[in-house]
Amino acid sequence: AAMREERIDKTKTVCTYCGVGCTFDVWTKGRKVLKVEPQPDSPANGISTCVKGKFGWDYVNSEERLRKPLIRKGDAFVEVEWDEALDYTAKRFAEIKEAKGADSLGFISSSKATNEESYSMQKFARQVIGTNNVDNCSRYCQSPATKGLFRTVGHGGDSGSIDDIAKADMVITIGSNTAESHPVLASRIKRSQKLLGQKLYVFDLRKHEMGQRADRFFQPKSGTDLVWLSAVTKYIIDKGWEDRAFIDKWVNDFEQYKKSLNMFTLDYAEALSGISEDELKHIAEQIASVDKLAICWAMGVTQHQLGSDTSTAISNLLLITGNYMRNGTGAYPLRGHNNVQGCSDFGSMPNFFPGYEKVADDEVRKRYEDAWGVDIPGEPGKDNHEMIGAIHEGELHALYVLGEDTGIVDANINYVTAAFEQLEFFVVQDLFLTETAKYADVILPAVPSLEKEGTFTNTERRIQRLYQALDPVGDSRPDWEIIMDLAARLGFEWCYNGPSDIMDESASLAPLFAGVSYDRLTDYNSLQWPVAADGTDSPLLFVDGFPFADHKAKLYPLDYEHVYDTNDEYDLHVNNGRVLEHFHEGNMTYKSEAITRKMPSAFIEVSPELASERGINEGAEVKLISEAGDVTGPVHITDRVSGRELYLPLNDNGKTAVNYLTDNRVDKDSNTPAFKEIAVKMEVIKKK
Ligand code: SF4
Repeated sequence: AAMREERIDKTKTVCTYCGVGCTFDVWTKGRKVLKVEPQPDSPANGISTCVKGKFGWDYVNSEERLRKPLIRKGDAFVEVEWDEALDYTAKRFAEIKEAKGADSLGFISSSKATNEESYSMQKFARQVIGTNNVDNCSRYCQSPATKGLFRTVGHGGDSGSIDDIAKADMVITIGSNTAESHPVLASRIKRSQKLLGQKLYVFDLRKHEMGQRADRFFQPKSGTDLVWLSAVTKYIIDKGWEDRAFIDKWVNDFEQYKKSLNMFTLDYAEALSGISEDELKHIAEQIASVDKLAICWAMGVTQHQLGSDTSTAISNLLLITGNYMRNGTGAYPLRGHNNVQGCSDFGSMPNFFPGYEKVADDEVRKRYEDAWGVDIPGEPGKDNHEMIGAIHEGELHALYVLGEDTGIVDANINYVTAAFEQLEFFVVQDLFLTETAKYADVILPAVPSLEKEGTFTNTERRIQRLYQALDPVGDSRPDWEIIMDLAARLGFEWCYNGPSDIMDESASLAPLFAGVSYDRLTDYNSLQWPVAADGTDSPLLFVDGFPFADHKAKLYPLDYEHVYDTNDEYDLHVNNGRVLEHFHEGNMTYKSEAITRKMPSAFIEVSPELASERGINEGAEVKLISEAGDVTGPVHITDRVSGRELYLPLNDNGKTAVNYLTDNRVDKDSNTPAFKEIAVKMEVIKKK
């Protein structure tokens, strides 16, 4: 150990923040992180990183790290040894299962945990407890994209690699603040635009950096992307510009789909979206004229009541223009967290086993039942949103949340925390005493990425290994070990010697990962799923058609009903999202000094027009009130937002936390909260 204090170690790791999946060597001396050094053979990032990957590591040495398990005794938490915490947790799980049934327990996995830990969590739910009530935070972000892509092309992942986005003749981004949310990927787009003449069209409410750089920037009204996308698609077909050869060979249901487009005339689209008929025609002409189109989208599309349908509209447009199955083309729902892709891939979903095989499929279920020696229910379980509802309805009594500050990041904080208060038993496993953990009965101290081994999967379906750089702090332990110990106490000995054994088991059961093994993932080697048994991976997702019986994709008919608007009383719209410096609710990045110096707190962006109408200046303090709750914060006046649009960064876990404003509205097809549909009124507290 003394040697280690003195020695400088270099360890390959994968960034813990966004879904770009940058890899680099982290230089450490003792517990000190000296620097991070990306390598030319880093597959996703080459020699680049952003400010978070470079400077965002102080949190691993934060005084606030949990060092021992905690059990609630009355109003206080008492430090206990692992045996006591795990015995007690196992006993309470068993009692509640016995008294109220397996489906009265729920499990939420973490998009910050490894693939092996997601696999362990869903195995715990299904094998040890006997329920499919397991989900993860992709329910809050890209589930609608997955739904839209499953409907049309049969797989929810990005169609190609980041390289393909860089190679496209034209990139369209919709509802994606790419430069701040996926910085290194954005710099690839910027470079292609500058050096290769790539066309960049950006659609967003807010004129962020990518909006300013775009060849054309459009500001459709909130929640109307489906309309302009469908109108553009219709216009392309009306003009006969569709890719006939591709459609004949690879696409079903064209005629039926074409009929469904009747309502999406140019004047209808202009009236709803605010994009003029001439501009819509121009967009259609551009799309039809390029050979290779890639469309990237993010939460501005998905976090709406029509998030799945809008994602479907994107895929429909790509299909009719033949923009799948080739390098430089395809659909790119950009994943937010470093492992939100992998967390779903490895089965922490109520309807899917690992590799997106349905729990309702008898043959698939039998494979897992045989391997695990138990019966597994064939009905899908509850998703995150349904679990919170079921607690309110008295149907769900115990919850085990891993590495997710659900009480801040789920919509409608007051409703979610009221549910926590009703739980009979609540376990939270995390690095810190989060807002969510404050409601727990047992808190189990976990470790961050630098203190464990495992794999993460980035937005391009790329599975990458992280090696352990530091020892765990105090008594904290990796999530997979904790889950394995709980399973043993409930009668299931898993006996994994390490994450590599867990990956081997996943690979033996899920065809999507058949050829994945740690031997094939050493150092900077990576694999993009699907991975065949011989280790051949798939940089391009669709090569010989689409994963349906006849290998043809499906055009999916859509209609539109305008479901959200501001009104006379709640007259302002609140948009929300990331800032470059901070990540998610900020539990990690606020503990980094370098980052917090640059961006000390959240703020409310107000347009110059609105500021002068209300007589407020830079730094004024305002209260935003929605029907669900209110937030207060300092005003920042900027022309990035216009008119009656406000913008609130989501990285605040105090009085400016945006989810005091959101309510229970969800995407109708995926139950993803409509985080982007917030109507508020504004009260001025201090004019300044
Ligand atoms: Fe990490 Fe994303 Fe920044 Fe890369 S772009 S360093 S993955 S936060």
